[in-house]
Amino acid sequence: MKIRFGPSGNSASFYDQGYTSTKQAPQWLYEMGLDAFEYSFGKGVRITEQTAREIGVPMAEYDIALSIHAPYYINLATPEVDKAKNNVRFLLESARAASWMGAKKIILHPGSCGGRDRREALKYAMERTKTAMAVLIDNGYGGMALCPETMGKGNQLGLLEEILEICLLDEKLIPCIDFGHLHARGIGSLKSEEDFADILDAVEKELGKKRLDNIHIHFSRVEYTDAGEKKHWDFKDTQFGPDFIHLASQIKARDMHPVVICESQTRMAEDALAMKKMYLEA
Ligand SMILES: [Zn+2]
Repeated sequence: MKIRFGPSGNSASFYDQGYTSTKQAPQWLYEMGLDAFEYSFGKGVRITEQTAREIGVPMAEYDIALSIHAPYYINLATPEVDKAKNNVRFLLESARAASWMGAKKIILHPGSCGGRDRREALKYAMERTKTAMAVLIDNGYGGMALCPETMGKGNQLGLLEEILEICLLDEKLIPCIDFGHLHARGIGSLKSEEDFADILDAVEKELGKKRLDNIHIHFSRVEYTDAGEKKHWDFKDTQFGPDFIHLASQIKARDMHPVVICESQTRMAEDALAMKKMYLEA
């Protein structure tokens, strides 16, 4: 494993330069010096097998590690059995598309508390995560890693402790630590290197050094209100935190090899490259 950097989706500049399809992204990313890409199925898994394979082939050719983001409307914390079944089916569809594309990781929002007790919501989400993993294995997608993500809004399941508890269910679960979300959820809590170190320490304490080394990272500057996350911004919008520089030195000091995905508003690839530079110079 090596540390990798890349964007979530295509930068505005990619389209400004006349490119029109993610099939063209691998070479573009490679020439920039990036080696990861996250493909979002946030609004639903709508891709044909042919298109998925046409994206996957050059991604592999240019050694761009591909992850996919499962639909945002998946809610594993729902108490309703029928809805839960549908949600597991959406995850299965995500896994199938991921396999066409050669992606090995599925990033997932665990779900909404829906005004209910957080512990109760978490209990449902954990049960459904187990079910989903079993269904993926039954369908031949056992090699795929599910990555539950830390979330930025109060009503969403996805506090750091909740994500770690879900990941304790199975070694194959990899936490997706979205530092922008944690910063927003903590009303601007990530200010110093120590603030980042505390998070990494918590991951290591619960899940061990090996899983810490290989976490999936989402990073962007995030605007927040008292309710948490409001909007993602670019690195140049320095009035918003957090700053990757503090995390860069921690990743280096701990000799970690995460995949670092940039979720900036428009400059995802440029900012991913900026993170790589900060890491190399840390
Ligand atoms: Zn996400």
